Amino acid sequence: MSFSRLAACACLLLATTTYAAEEAGPGRDPAQPVDEGYTRKIREYTTEPFFLSPLVDYLPASPDVPTPQAVLGDVAGAPGKLPYAADVYRYMRLLESRSPRVKVRTIGRTEEGREMIAVAVASEPLLAAMDDNRVRLGKLADPRTIAMDDAEADRLVAASFPVYYVTGTIHSPETGAPTALMELAYRLAVDESPYVRYIRDHVVTLITPVVEVDGRDRQVDVYNWHLAHPRENWPPLVYWGHYVAHDNNRDAMGLTLNLTRNVLGEYLFQKPQVLHDLHESVPFLYDNTVGDGPYNAWLDPILTNEWQMMGWNNVSEMTRLGMPGVFTHGDFDTWSPGYLMFIAASHNGISRLYETFGNAGADTVVRRLSPDEYARTWYRQNPPLPRVSWSQRNNNNYEQTGLLVSLHYFAQNAPAFLRNFYLKSKRSIEKPRLEGPAAYVFSADEPRPGAQAELLRVLQRQGCEITRATAAFDVPMPVRKPKDKDKDEAAAGADKSSAEKPKTETRHFPAGSYVLRMDQPYSRIADMLLDYQYWSPDDPQKHPYDDTGWTFGELFGVQVARVADPAVLAVAAERVSGEVKSPSGLEGSGPVLAVNHNADIGLVALRYRLKDASFEAAEEPFEAGGTKFARGSFLIRGVSTADAGRVAGELGLKVQALAAAPSVKTHPLRAPRVALLHSWLSTQDEGWWRMALDQLKLPYDYISVQTVAETPGLRSRWDVMVFPPVGRTAAAIVAGMPRWGNPLPWKTTPLTPNIGRIDSTDDMRPGLGAAGVQSLRDFVAGGGLLIGVMDTAELAVSYGLTQGVALGRAEKLKAPGTIVRARVVDAASPIVYGYADSFSVYTADGPIFNLSNLAGGRGRRRPPEETERATGRGTADEPDLPQGRPFAEPPEEPKAEAWEALPLTEEQRRNPIYVIPPAQRPRTVLRYGDAKELLVSGLLEGAGDIAKHPAVVDVPVEKGHVVLFSNNPIWRGETLGSYFLVFNAMLNFDQLGAGRTLDAE
Ligand SMILES: [Zn+2]
Repeated sequence: MSFSRLAACACLLLATTTYAAEEAGPGRDPAQPVDEGYTRKIREYTTEPFFLSPLVDYLPASPDVPTPQAVLGDVAGAPGKLPYAADVYRYMRLLESRSPRVKVRTIGRTEEGREMIAVAVASEPLLAAMDDNRVRLGKLADPRTIAMDDAEADRLVAASFPVYYVTGTIHSPETGAPTALMELAYRLAVDESPYVRYIRDHVVTLITPVVEVDGRDRQVDVYNWHLAHPRENWPPLVYWGHYVAHDNNRDAMGLTLNLTRNVLGEYLFQKPQVLHDLHESVPFLYDNTVGDGPYNAWLDPILTNEWQMMGWNNVSEMTRLGMPGVFTHGDFDTWSPGYLMFIAASHNGISRLYETFGNAGADTVVRRLSPDEYARTWYRQNPPLPRVSWSQRNNNNYEQTGLLVSLHYFAQNAPAFLRNFYLKSKRSIEKPRLEGPAAYVFSADEPRPGAQAELLRVLQRQGCEITRATAAFDVPMPVRKPKDKDKDEAAAGADKSSAEKPKTETRHFPAGSYVLRMDQPYSRIADMLLDYQYWSPDDPQKHPYDDTGWTFGELFGVQVARVADPAVLAVAAERVSGEVKSPSGLEGSGPVLAVNHNADIGLVALRYRLKDASFEAAEEPFEAGGTKFARGSFLIRGVSTADAGRVAGELGLKVQALAAAPSVKTHPLRAPRVALLHSWLSTQDEGWWRMALDQLKLPYDYISVQTVAETPGLRSRWDVMVFPPVGRTAAAIVAGMPRWGNPLPWKTTPLTPNIGRIDSTDDMRPGLGAAGVQSLRDFVAGGGLLIGVMDTAELAVSYGLTQGVALGRAEKLKAPGTIVRARVVDAASPIVYGYADSFSVYTADGPIFNLSNLAGGRGRRRPPEETERATGRGTADEPDLPQGRPFAEPPEEPKAEAWEALPLTEEQRRNPIYVIPPAQRPRTVLRYGDAKELLVSGLLEGAGDIAKHPAVVDVPVEKGHVVLFSNNPIWRGETLGSYFLVFNAMLNFDQLGAGRTLDAE
C-alpha cells in the first residue's frame, strides 16, 4: 500500500469519525486551563460585552506554545500595539517551532524585497498528509486528469480535506488583521474545545497575515510617529505599496503587482477551496461577497450560491452569538474580477471578503456612524450602534469570530464544498459544449505581436494553457454589424437585418496562430478577461463599485477572435511551453536599421536602450526591403547590427537592416529627459504610470509638485514633464492641504525607517501653488512638453497654460471606467504614430474639451444640427420672411465638428486681439467616437455629452507644447494599447508640430 493510499485511508477515517463536536456549539473546553492574564486583557480591551463571543472571550493556555504576547508584549488587538510584518512572521515561526500543527512557508517577495508568507494550521495528521492531499485536490481541480469520472471524483472527495485560505491587510490603513490572524493561528493550534478541534481536524487553515507588506511597514511607521507625537496631526499614508495604494486590490486581472502574483501562486499551488480577504471600513462586519448585483457574468452559478450559503450562515451564527452589526447583503457589486479575492472566483474556488470596522491604527476611539451605517434594514436587523467606543480588540474579536464560524461551517460541509469544487472545475472544462465559446484565437498575422505576446503572458500567469496551431485553419465567425460606416447607412442596415439570423463569414488564421482552448479548468478567467462587458444604464445598481468594462483585447490593442464553433478544438496545435514570446531579432544587412512603428511598447525602450544611436522618425509610410513601414517608423544609424539585434531580441522587436535609407521625410527622435510629477495628496493613480516606466526600464526623475514650485529653470533639467492624474480637483492640486496645524513630514528617520524612500518632504501640505504653475508655464514656453491627464489636464486648462481649450460640463455622462471608441483626427501628428484610424481607449468620466480659435473662448457649445429656425412664417425648412422689406439671405453660420474650433468670423477678425495665431492653436489628434459607436465595453450613459469631442489635444505654447488627455492612457497595467500615445508624445517632444496643416488665417 502506497503512502498516499495510507494517508487517504486516514482521512476517510477522520471524515467518518463521529464527533461530539458536530453538535457542540462554540465555547471553551472546561478541562483546558485558560491563560488568565491574557483573558483578562481581552475583556479589558473590548469596549462592550456584546463585542465578544464565546469563541474569543478567553484564550486557552498551553504549556508549550507561546501566545501572541510573546512578540507583542500584550494581547492581540491591544491599544498602542501595531506589529511590523517581521514581528508577525517572528510569531508565526515561533508557533511553527513549538507546535506540530503549524507550518510556515515563504510565498514570494514584494517590490521592495520584503517577504510574504503563508501559514498552514491543522491537526498533525492533516498537516502530515498535505502533500498527498494536494495531489488529490489537483485532480479535483483538473478533472481531465481523471477522465471527468464522477465516481473517481467521489472517491477523491471522500479521501480529501479542504484548504481555506485567509489573507490579511492588503489595504494598509486597515490594520487589524495581522494580530487577529496571529491569535487565530494560536487558537487553531492549541484550543481543545470541540468546536475548534473539529475545524482543525477537518480543514487546513492557510493564512497570509500581511498581503501588502511594504505598505504595512509604512503604516506602522506612521502609527509609531503618531504615538511619539500624541498631540499632533499625523501624516496620511500617501504611499502603501511601492506603486499603488488602494488599487492593489484591483490587480487580479492584470497581475502586475508582486503581491497578486504571490497570492495567485500560492492559490494555484495549494488548490484551496476558499480565498477570504480581510478588509476594514464598514461597521461592524459586512461579509460583502453576497453584496449586491450585478454579479460577474462569467461565474458558475454554483459559486454564487456558495456565497449565499456562507454569507447568510455567517450572519445567522454571529447573530446567535449576540454580536450586533453583522450583515451580508449590501452596496457592493461583484461585477469586476479585479479584486484579490476574485483569484478564487475566477479559478473555480470561492471568493469571500470581510469589511470589519477599524480605526486605522490601534487607538481606542469614539466613532460616530452615519445614519446609513446604523439604519435598520431588511438585511440588517441588528444594525451597528450609532455612536460607539471602538477598539482594535473589538475588531479582532469580530474578525476571529467570523472566521471561526466560517471555518466550522466549511468543515462541517467539507464533502459538499469539495464536490462543488470538482463540479465547477469540470464545468469549466465543458465550457465549449455548454455556454461556450469554444476558444479564443490570436492570429499569427497580428499587427502588434509584442502586445499580443504580453496579453498571452497575462493569461499564462492566470494559469491558462495556450496552444499554437501547427497549420493554417478556417473558422466560421459571426459577421459584425457595420458600426464604423456612416450612421444612417448603418441604422438602415440594422433595421433590415434585425429580423434575420446572424450571418457568418469564414475567417482564416495562418499557421502559428495562438489558440486558447476553453476546455481547460481555468477557462473562466480567460472568458472574463477577453469577452465584452455590457452594463445596462437601466440596471437597478446605480453605483458601480469599480470599472464596468475591461475587455483585454481592446485595451491591449490586440485582435482577439471569440470562436463559438467547437470544430476549432480539432485544429492541429501544440501546447506552448514556457512564456509566449513575440518574433524578434534582426534581418537583412546594411547600415540603416528600420523598425516598423506598430505602437508596441518595446519601441520606447529601444530608443533608450540605444541612447547613443541616431534615431529618426519617418513622417510618412514607406516601403523598403520588401516590407511596409507605417508612419512614424524608426530609422536608426550609429549602432552595430549585433547590438541592435541583441536589444531587439530582448525587447521582442523586429529590426530590418537596409542597404540605404528610404527617401522619406524624417525628423530626429530623441531620448528626452523625463520628470514624472506627483502630488502629496495622493499617489494612487500615478503609481500605475511609474510602474509602466519602471517595467520598461525608462530613465526618469520622480518629483513632487513642491519640487516643481521650488526648482528654478526646470527646462534646463528636463525635456518632458509627465503629470499623471491625481484623483483630486485642479484647485486642490494647486492648493495642497490646509496649512493649519503642524507640518506633516514624510521622511526616513530612525522612528520611521520605511517611509520617505520613494520621495520625501518635510511637510506634505504645500501643493503646486502659484509658483509651481508659473514654473510649468515657463518650462513649456521654453520648449518643454507638459503632459496632463484628466484632472491634471483640467489644471493646465483652468490655470491658463493652454489657450483655446475650454472645459465643457457633462449633463448626463456616466462612464465609470468604460472602454470607448476613439478616432484619429490628425494621422500626421506624431502622437498617433503606429495607430490605426480607430481604436479603443479607457475613460473614467474624463473631461470634455472644447476648442476655440479665441483666447478665453468657450468653444462651440451646441451642434449645428440642433439649431432650429426662429418662430415665424412658413414651414420648418423655409426661411422666415420679415414683412415690409425684401428678404435678405443670411450668411452661412460657421460650422465645425465637436472636435474642432469654429472658424473665425469677420467680426472676430476686425480687431483680432483675442485671435490665437494659427501656429499656436490647439490641434485635436484623437477624438471620441460618434455617440452611436462610442461604447465598446462597460457602462455608458449620456454618450452625447462627450461623443466626437477631443480625447487628445496637442496645444503649442510658444516654443513648447502641452498635450492634454481626456482618457487615461496608462491604467492598472491593463491599457497597453494606449501607452504609446504618451510615449510618442515624449519621443517627439520637440517635433510635435510635424505634419501639421495650419489654418489659413
Ligand atoms: Zn480594504
